[in-house]
Amino acid sequence: MVDRKTILLDLYARLFKALGPRHWWPGDSGFEIAVGAILTQNTAWRNVTKAITNLKARNLLLPRALYDVPVQDLAVVIKPAGYYNIKARRLKHFADFLFQESDGDLDRLLAEDIDTLREKLLSVNGIGPETADSILLYAGNKPTFVVDAYTRRILFRHNLTPEEGPYDELQSFFMDYLEPDPKMFNEYHALLVHIGHTYCLRKKPRCGECPAEGWNEE
Ligand code: SF4
Repeated sequence: MVDRKTILLDLYARLFKALGPRHWWPGDSGFEIAVGAILTQNTAWRNVTKAITNLKARNLLLPRALYDVPVQDLAVVIKPAGYYNIKARRLKHFADFLFQESDGDLDRLLAEDIDTLREKLLSVNGIGPETADSILLYAGNKPTFVVDAYTRRILFRHNLTPEEGPYDELQSFFMDYLEPDPKMFNEYHALLVHIGHTYCLRKKPRCGECPAEGWNEE
């Protein structure tokens, strides 16, 4: 019986060898990454990029500007990301939180220890575990593993975890066995997103073309 750590490292090695570094998450600043993590909830990344372009064009991709802009105006600007009224409110909650905690200074906020900060982020209306972990890992370079729908589907299809399971259990599936290395967690998640998006399609997986084919089979 191959142990879990070996299985996880094998998948990482296979994907990295086949696909190389993914250079994820795109963004010119930690703040842009945090905003992107909220905008990407329930939508494809290509829609997020349109919303981010709009925010940049209006000089709204800055903590103070986001804090000051009326929520109705913000909703119009981020419309391409979908669920724009909800997401505008979520962005405003995040901006409020940022000013309340660190006077709008994201670097100062991210200097907090990971457990305290994760707890605080999860208390912000509209920030769930996937968004919090995306901010911590990609904006803060902190060692937390991001679990998303692709990760869930891939592990389920390889008979490793149930189809529906709590986020924390899936996260532990990785974090209990891998060294807490933000660089590797960053790359691992990005590779899983890539194969989930490209090969492990919801209706019909393209296993024959996927670099994960044959993984965890004796
Ligand atoms: S497409 Fe097939 S081989 Fe690739 S991750 Fe999904 S189930 Fe595995």
